[in-house]
This record gives sequence, C-alpha cells and structure tokens, in this order.
Amino acid sequence: MTYQELIGRIVSLQDIGLELFNAGKSVLGKNILATHVGDYSGTQILIQGGIHAREYISSLLMVEQAKNLFLNNSVHGGGIYFVFLTNPDGAEIVLDGINAVSCDITRQYLILANNGSTDFSQYKANINLVDLNTNFNADWGGGSQNVFCPATEDFVGFYPESEREVQSLINFTLKTKPLLTISYHSKGNVIYYGFENQSSENVARDQAIGESLSGATGYPLIFTENSTGGYKDWCINSLKIPAYTIEVGDANLPHPIGEENLPEIYERNKDVPLIALEKAKEFSQAIDFSSPIVQNKNNENVKSHAKGYHVRMQSLIERRNSRWCGDSKRR
Ligand SMILES: [Zn+2]
Repeated sequence: MTYQELIGRIVSLQDIGLELFNAGKSVLGKNILATHVGDYSGTQILIQGGIHAREYISSLLMVEQAKNLFLNNSVHGGGIYFVFLTNPDGAEIVLDGINAVSCDITRQYLILANNGSTDFSQYKANINLVDLNTNFNADWGGGSQNVFCPATEDFVGFYPESEREVQSLINFTLKTKPLLTISYHSKGNVIYYGFENQSSENVARDQAIGESLSGATGYPLIFTENSTGGYKDWCINSLKIPAYTIEVGDANLPHPIGEENLPEIYERNKDVPLIALEKAKEFSQAIDFSSPIVQNKNNENVKSHAKGYHVRMQSLIERRNSRWCGDSKRR
C-alpha cells in the first residue's frame, strides 16, 4: 500500500456520502482527516488512530467502522468522530520510504536517527522525530520508555505539546467535547485503561466501560502502568473522561501490520464504536464536566466548525510535501 492509496481509502468515504473535514494539520501541512457519523446533538465520542507512523492498520480499521456505521444508519442520539490518521507525515515515510521526504537535510537527519538505515518500515515518530503519543501534557517525560533526544520512537519532544499534530488533536478534542475517547494502536490484542492519580471513582467507571469493550473484542483489559504523555492519558488526566488505548493485531505479527489482517481485526472491533457510544451515554452523569476546559460551544457550533473544513482533495495533493521545503525536488 502507498500513502496515496491510504489517503484514497479515507477520502473514498465521501463516495458513500460521508463528509470529511480536517481535525488539524501535520508539521508538513498535511490535513488530518476526520469524519462524523450520527447526530451532532447528544453524547459525542472520538476515535483516533495512526498516531504512530507504522500503525496505519488502525486507519484502515476506522474507515471500515465509519463506513458500516454510516451505511447501516446505526448511530442515533449522539455521534462519533473519527480522526483517521493523526500522524500523516510519519505514515508517508513508512509507506513510501524515506525518499518521500523532499528536504535533503531532513532526510539525512532522519536516516542518522535510524542508525544509518534507509529502511523506515518500523518508524513510529512524526517528521520531527517526536513520538506523538508521548508528547501530551500528562506526566510528560515520566514514562519508563521515554527518551529525551530525537529518535525514531519514544522521544517525548523538547517540551509538552510541542508538535503540531498533538496541538491539532487537543484543539479538535476541546471543540468536539467527546465524553469518551478511543485510541487505536497496534499491536498486541489488548485494551489499556486508567492513568496514575486517577480518582478511584473514575477508575471504577472506566473499568466498567472497559469490560464491555473487552467483552466485545475478546481483548483483555489492563490498567496502564509506567506509560505517560499519551492522548489517552491526557484525556483522563485533563478532561477526566474515560479513554482507552486499543492495540489491534496479534503480538506475533511483524510491524507494520498489513491489510491482509484487516478482516480479522475488523471482525473483533466492529461493535466497539457503538458500545463505546452507548456506554458514554449510560455513564454520562458520572463523567465530570466541571473541568474548565470542557465547557464551551454548543453542538451547533461544532457542526458549523466541522462543515467549515471540508476536504479539498486537489489542494491536499498539491500540499503534500510542499510546505516545509518549498520547491525542493522529490527524490
Ligand atoms: Zn502505537
């Protein structure tokens, strides 16, 4: 699969009538594509994937989820935001190779960080060598795997929320105000919930919801330990909402997990969005809205915001790789 084919798969959702919009921009100026299924009134949840470069199987899964929910008219009394590919710059490097980076110095810098290798199939970071799922401001830098120098994985950034993709996802979350979020990653067939210093009431709430997700997927539910700075962690820590990381794909599969595994992964995850939405509705009274950063904008504003960012496919193609490096040649 090429990067263009991956984006094409997301954009093809427009052919069945789903509206795409941008959740924000990457460092290189690519659109972070999103859609919404269901009603803009009532409880909202948010599902995001592809924050790690090599984990684009999560984007393909979410395309299938959004398509089937929309075609079956399954979502009522609330809505589901899908943010398909939070790290498009990184996914392009994994799918198209390091020569997709048009800027000479950036390319050499990335190869240096990759131990001199031009094989970027295992790459996780964004174009700045920051692991986006460690860059959120939730005990930033406190994880056992964190590193503090640019690297193909686990570099937390020079300061929290330094990366444009992270800022985009935070801003989009604050605008859409989901009562629950799911972050799709690969691999391991496991669901993580909870975060350090979370109140016991919220741990119990999140465990109860998580057990429903575990029951639907067959993935065990595990309390997060020694991992910080992720989107899930930020949702729990700052917004006080239930948030989950779901790792799809068998632990024995090599990265990146290919499309041939999509049918099995979809089968296990097809009910996750609706169960998550129904549980968010059920527990809405127990989800804390007192936090000052989750109190603004009514749903009509969200709708008009979403409609203001329709995808223009032509400009998306033209903007690829053109922002940072001007008219540098592609190689
Ligand atoms: Zn991941």
